[in-house]
Amino acid sequence: MSLIEHRQLIILGAGPAGLAAAIYGARAELKPLVITGMVLYGQASLTHTIENYPGFPKGIGGMELGQLFEEQAKAFGTDFLFDEVQAVDFSKHPYKVSVYGGDYTADALIIAMGAYAKKLGVPGENEFIGRGVSYCGTCDGWFYKDKDIHVVGGGDSALEEAIFLTRFAHSVTIIHRRDTLRAGAILENRARTNPKISFIFDTVVKEIRGTEGVEELMLENVKTGEVSKMPTDGLFVFIGHTPNTQLFEGKLEMEPDGTLRINSNMETSRKSVFAAGEIADSHYRQVVTSAGMGAAAAISATHCLETMSCGF
Ligand code: NAP
Repeated sequence: MSLIEHRQLIILGAGPAGLAAAIYGARAELKPLVITGMVLYGQASLTHTIENYPGFPKGIGGMELGQLFEEQAKAFGTDFLFDEVQAVDFSKHPYKVSVYGGDYTADALIIAMGAYAKKLGVPGENEFIGRGVSYCGTCDGWFYKDKDIHVVGGGDSALEEAIFLTRFAHSVTIIHRRDTLRAGAILENRARTNPKISFIFDTVVKEIRGTEGVEELMLENVKTGEVSKMPTDGLFVFIGHTPNTQLFEGKLEMEPDGTLRINSNMETSRKSVFAAGEIADSHYRQVVTSAGMGAAAAISATHCLETMSCGF
């Protein structure tokens, strides 16, 4: 495919990490190009209210925060391309980024492509996605008005989403594979005192059954081995995330948890290729930490471009 354009800095991904990198890169006059991928504003856009991003004491919608990031990045001279990265060629410098519309080259790259929700991997799951199986309360909660639904997971996401889903559902039952929650104390307390929420512990979902939509779950108690049927109107799965690294397998070094390996300058195993946000962090996974990583990656990229040390 023909080369469309060369840029000093290309940022892959338009979540908090990519957009913060764009603000910093643009303010350093690098005229960055953000290739957004198909999910603008990343996973933050799926969050109804973000209550812990500094500067918004009353909370802010995830989509709204993303729009503000974008507005700020554009104001300083960032360009946006709504397209999906197909391949990145690191074999020569400048690096080549191929999207559906053509090829771009860049002296420095910041990879901020985020992560996607993990699946249970049980029979019925794929079949009923969009018909009773969901990975996003903000997106799909409205469809479950006055319904009796189930949530899988015991972490902060599961509890936060379960609490959100009580706005719509008649009841929300959280199914967790252990008898203690992984979530923090504040969310645990909020969930345990919510009259619409109940818990089933030491239990996993073995199968999701239904006809037109989800109707019942086959559950297994992991301590007793007992198998039972549980009627349900819908199942929300919040069991963690997988970093979006498929394009970089065999090209960039990874950590054992599947994230991209970066050093303290946010640089990957290749020179002038930086990474930020959940593609390189499975631990903090906060909007503020991802944005901070994005800013740091842009500062490092600026340094390598200014000192002419960007390259192989
Ligand atoms: P997480 O902390 O990794 O929790 C995943 C949960 O799913 C765990 O309870 C885990 O069980 C369970 N699980 C994993 N695989 C499973 C499977 N195959 N079947 C059944 N259950 C399974 O993920 P997260 O809740 O998405 O949170 C990720 C990070 O984001 C955390 O650092 C969290 O603090 C942060 N976060 C923070 C907020 C907030 O501060 N408001 C909100 C959302 C997320 P085990 O406990 O047995 O491992």
